Amino acid sequence: MLRLFVGGVLCHPGGNMCGIIGIYDPEGKAAPKAALLLAKLQNRGPQGTGAVSIDEEGLLHEVRGPGLVEAVLGAPHILSSLRGSIVTGQVRYATFGETIQPLVGYWKGRRDQPIIVAHNGEFGNAISLRREAQERWQYQFQSTSDTEVILPFLEYARESDFKEALLDVVRRKIRGAFSLIIFFGGKFYCIRDRHGVRPLVVGRNKEGVVAIASEDSALRVLDVEDVRYVDAAELLVVAPDGIEEEICWAERDRKSCIFEHVYFANPDSDIEGINVSLARDRMGAIAFEEIGWRYDMDVLIPILDSGLHPTLGLHEALLDYAVLHGEKLVPLKAGVHRSWFVGRTFQEQEQATREILQRVKSSVIAAWVRGKRVWVGDDSLVRGTVTRAITALMRLAGAKEVHWIIFSPPTIGFCPYGVDTYQDELIAARLKDIDAVRNFIGADSLHHLSIDGLYRAVTEAVSPYVRTKEEFCAACFTGRYPIPFEQDRTEKPRPGENLTINDSR
Ligand code: SF4
Repeated sequence: MLRLFVGGVLCHPGGNMCGIIGIYDPEGKAAPKAALLLAKLQNRGPQGTGAVSIDEEGLLHEVRGPGLVEAVLGAPHILSSLRGSIVTGQVRYATFGETIQPLVGYWKGRRDQPIIVAHNGEFGNAISLRREAQERWQYQFQSTSDTEVILPFLEYARESDFKEALLDVVRRKIRGAFSLIIFFGGKFYCIRDRHGVRPLVVGRNKEGVVAIASEDSALRVLDVEDVRYVDAAELLVVAPDGIEEEICWAERDRKSCIFEHVYFANPDSDIEGINVSLARDRMGAIAFEEIGWRYDMDVLIPILDSGLHPTLGLHEALLDYAVLHGEKLVPLKAGVHRSWFVGRTFQEQEQATREILQRVKSSVIAAWVRGKRVWVGDDSLVRGTVTRAITALMRLAGAKEVHWIIFSPPTIGFCPYGVDTYQDELIAARLKDIDAVRNFIGADSLHHLSIDGLYRAVTEAVSPYVRTKEEFCAACFTGRYPIPFEQDRTEKPRPGENLTINDSR
């Protein structure tokens, strides 16, 4: 294990599981529309919000802050300070550090030629690139973000044309998972890594508003009907009147993140043609095929909100079976109340914060569980925080038995492609044995959808495209990582700690 201390500052390659957007508004009022898009993508990052606009004189206006879109951009005077027809923005779920994007650099060092970058994903070789930029150009990094490593390689590019410089950087330099929205010289450059790990879409509505976002459900907020998915290994150059150029910049090898379908994405989004709600519904139906009819189920309860859709799928399969075989109808009840004023606790960085917020966020309604054999459905079991707390609340409320059905396989591996997980915090990886995990969460039984079942759910969901399981990354469930990465993710670094490169790969 090689320890690296880069440039005298804490450098973490920790990437960004984020929502990113770009807007061009011909009426010159891009900021309110940008705020709507970002709010729709809040599921992808509740920890920070950032937006950068360019006005008609080419001046930049920036607003960034911790918290939800409403808190950072909600005030009218803030929105009106983001003047101009162009906005690039981000909602942030950082794996580490404090940097809120978009980042700003300058082409060939010229202040009148800003480069604005919003990134969803994680550069797998950020530590090496940071060291190279410091050694070659004595580049002074302004942040600890992995995203910033792209700026020196663009700023000092040999090419005189920005597009060519960008293509050279993505082909020869950066590796990993990235969906990028880059604004430069009046155009957006929308680009995805050659595996297409994170989603990205482009569209234009009847009023001529050009919108780019991580998920298509955000574009529909602005009545964009014609959505174009940016493909893996694709660069779309987007001008104010629409897509100007489409370039396939590398050999395509799709490895779309399967966890987007399990947890991250909005259920009303389509990811490359696969509707997230339909895929989740299939996860439930296939889970029924795997666990079969259950005589020990008095009531079925979904965990909101990403556990809802697969639990509905499971319940429909249960009803079909009951009708066909003359069994009792198992009721589906909203037995766990979710406070909508607490965000997604999975994305909080500190375990203590997650646990406290979880108690505020979820409460059990005793009337639905008292004296019953309760089955609870949830999308995933990562750290065990939610599952353990809810099991305890169920027992306090008088449940006779508590059984869990998880609509994804045990999470045995961290994600080096933008999701904030470290190996030592994954309960299935730590305890290794499913019965030990069941014991840890205090449940009477614990069932997982199999990896084959999960692949079936995403490939069998109705889609205009035929997808195979080989086109998905499922590394956090299989331990097979399709893209090399250099950082060690055994345990989460604490502020002030050096970072490590895992030299075992
Ligand atoms: Fe998605 Fe898991 Fe792959 Fe990360 S490791 S990209 S969360 S499937």
